[in-house]
Amino acid sequence: MQLCIGKKAGDRMRITYEVIFALFTVVLIVLTVVAKRSHRAIGNSVALLELSLVFTVAGNLIILISENELLSSIGCYVYFIGYDFVMFAMVRFSVKYCIGVNSGQTVPFWVYGLLLFDTVQLLLNPFTGHAFGMKEDVLEGDPYYTFIPHWGQNLHRVIDYMILLMLITIFIIIVKKMPRIYAEKYSVVLFSMIVGGVWQGFYFISKSPINRSILALFAFGLFIFYFSLCYKPVRLLDRMLSNIASEMSEALFMFDPNGKCIWANEKGCELAECDGNNYDNVSQTLIDMFGMPESESGDNAEQRVLSLDNEIRYYVLEENSVFDENKKPSGSYLSIRDITEEKMKLKREMYEATHDRLTGLYTSEYLHQRITELFRNHPERDYLILFVDVKNFKIVNDIFGSEFGDYALQCIAKWVRDQMSDNCVYGRLNGDTFGACIPADEFSSQEIENELSHFVVRKDNAAYQLLIHIGVYAADKKGKDVSVMFDRAHLSLSTIQDEYNVHIAFYDNEIRAKLMWNQSISTDLPEAIRTKQIRPYFQPIADNNGNIIGAEALARWIHPEHGFMPPSSFIPVFERNGMIVEVDKHMWRCACEVLSGWGKDKENMFVSVNISPKDFYFMDVAEEIKRLVKEYGIAPCRLRIEITETVMMNEADKRMQVLDDLRKAGFIVEMDDFGSGYSSLNMLKDMPVDVLKIDMKFLGKSSDTSKAQTIVKNIINLSEELGISSLTEGVETEEQYHILNQMGCRMFQGYYFSKPLPIEDFEKLLA
Ligand code: C2E
Ligand code: MG
Ligand code: MG
Repeated sequence: MQLCIGKKAGDRMRITYEVIFALFTVVLIVLTVVAKRSHRAIGNSVALLELSLVFTVAGNLIILISENELLSSIGCYVYFIGYDFVMFAMVRFSVKYCIGVNSGQTVPFWVYGLLLFDTVQLLLNPFTGHAFGMKEDVLEGDPYYTFIPHWGQNLHRVIDYMILLMLITIFIIIVKKMPRIYAEKYSVVLFSMIVGGVWQGFYFISKSPINRSILALFAFGLFIFYFSLCYKPVRLLDRMLSNIASEMSEALFMFDPNGKCIWANEKGCELAECDGNNYDNVSQTLIDMFGMPESESGDNAEQRVLSLDNEIRYYVLEENSVFDENKKPSGSYLSIRDITEEKMKLKREMYEATHDRLTGLYTSEYLHQRITELFRNHPERDYLILFVDVKNFKIVNDIFGSEFGDYALQCIAKWVRDQMSDNCVYGRLNGDTFGACIPADEFSSQEIENELSHFVVRKDNAAYQLLIHIGVYAADKKGKDVSVMFDRAHLSLSTIQDEYNVHIAFYDNEIRAKLMWNQSISTDLPEAIRTKQIRPYFQPIADNNGNIIGAEALARWIHPEHGFMPPSSFIPVFERNGMIVEVDKHMWRCACEVLSGWGKDKENMFVSVNISPKDFYFMDVAEEIKRLVKEYGIAPCRLRIEITETVMMNEADKRMQVLDDLRKAGFIVEMDDFGSGYSSLNMLKDMPVDVLKIDMKFLGKSSDTSKAQTIVKNIINLSEELGISSLTEGVETEEQYHILNQMGCRMFQGYYFSKPLPIEDFEKLLA
């Protein structure tokens, strides 16, 4: 086919198009540079495409301005090969534009292969002349060269149109698949591709001397640049925003500058009970529901509590003004969020953090906090701090199981709650202790004593009488920590011993003095042992002929400040805090010293020492005693060992083992204070003891003498039958001595013979 130059073309047409093409070239170069510099990921592909368009436009410009054959044919080469370049860049761009920059999708090799083949065959044309030849003509009176296409040129067109068609097909598929709003940016590119392609075809057929399809190509370049790098899918964004607003979980209302509602989302319509077409009453409905906004300016969040259908609901209202470019108010929007669920959850969490799960009472920490607040809010009022303690609660769990134990604790919690008015705060301190703070004038100790005297927990067939003690401390609100007050209330309980009719103890100065005393003697103890302020006094033990055969070593403390101290003033304190171990070890050592110091004349004399039940917890009693007699080189039978039946209260098997061990080593074990506690004759048969020390005190002065004598007599007989010797303590009169002697008692100890004496006096007595 031959393209001719139309003689009819207007005079200035050639110049006009020269200017237009030159302008296009410059614009496309600029777009290339801008796209290259763009930070968008697709920038490089756009730049390549714009650059490829530069070649096609420039090729046509060269053809247009050249007036010799060589320059014209160069223009043709630039144009044709530039077109291959355009196809190559379009394929690359389309993949990125349609599928995504990071998709990793690649173009099939044959596409690039075809384009490369076409370029090569065009480049061979100067040697083969198979693609096109040049022909001289005249355009607007000036020489003009056009090309005569051969089969190579046709092949070139077939290849480029094939690829263009392929791209058009891809875009058509994408436009079909995409939602309408989103398809916009593909449709425009598709449209310009089709226009460009058709126009190009028209140019070939029309035989026009000027390739006007370049206009479409340039427009295509502009579209590509705009839609890839500048385009924001505003319609899409609008639609998305409106969708988001419609489906938001909060109610949303929009108002014009006069405060008239112009739109509400679904939730908003539901809340304001409007139908979505008529918003006339919305503003008024909202005011009726939530009242007027508290702040004049709006633009902040406010919380409201509404009572709807007997149900409390919580809302957060947030109003924001909207301004136009000139900062003039153009309306406002209000969002209303229902935070009832969040509030409830928060309340639940708050409740769980501050309330004990089992009893529903305050936790210890929260109780402390509430008491502090109470004091702060009522500085004028006098309060009592109560410490409620369940005695031996472990036994309840042990005997009836933890389910009953839990139930018992719930009963106590209920009882505590029932005693309290609105002016009190109370909670569970831990395990089996409860705490309360109560106005002093609301506390009636007599009433509570009455109730506690028969506190029985019943469940199914089980019933258990709980022993509950309450320690009371008169709160001094200034300065004292709440936990210190509870400690003091707790400490007052130490004054309730085994009295079953006393359940309430008040912390007073006496207790305070006692606690200070305990503290002070505990501090003094190590020094007292080191300097032998604590020493044994010896109380003689006589046989049935009245001869002294041994002695019991009893502790005395000659204190540099407090003077002579009987064991009752310090032994119970040290038994409670465990320091008794030190006292006993010291006493045993003193006894051994005395025994080892006695010569031949006293070689059959023995000394009995006391062993506290606590000793068994803190040391290996058998080991310690055996080590001592070995150290002092004395026969084990001369150091007698006194234990009380309370030793057997815990871990009886282990204790029996220790006593057995001692007896096997040659020690004589004595059961002290038999009859003063809950000892039963039955247990005697299992007890690994050699001597029974019967406590005369347990018979009491008031009791019937003949009955008492019968009991003592039987105890003596029984123990003798079991092979256990008997020793009576507290023998004060000659008569008692004779009667006991006749009953068969073997040994005697008591004031009748002597009070406990310092060693020198005891030895004088022996002499
Ligand atoms: P215990 O071992 O039963 O000691 C006998 C107590 O009865 C002694 O009191 C003694 O003085 C007293 N007593 C003796 N004969 C008579 C009497 O005819 N009439 C009266 N009314 N009382 C008499 P003490 O020395 O005050 O000791 C009291 C308790 O202190 C002892 O009772 C013992 O349990 C404990 N104790 C004394 N020294 C020690 C010790 O070194 N270690 C341990 N763990 N406890 C000791
Ligand atoms: Mg004793
Ligand atoms: Mg005794």
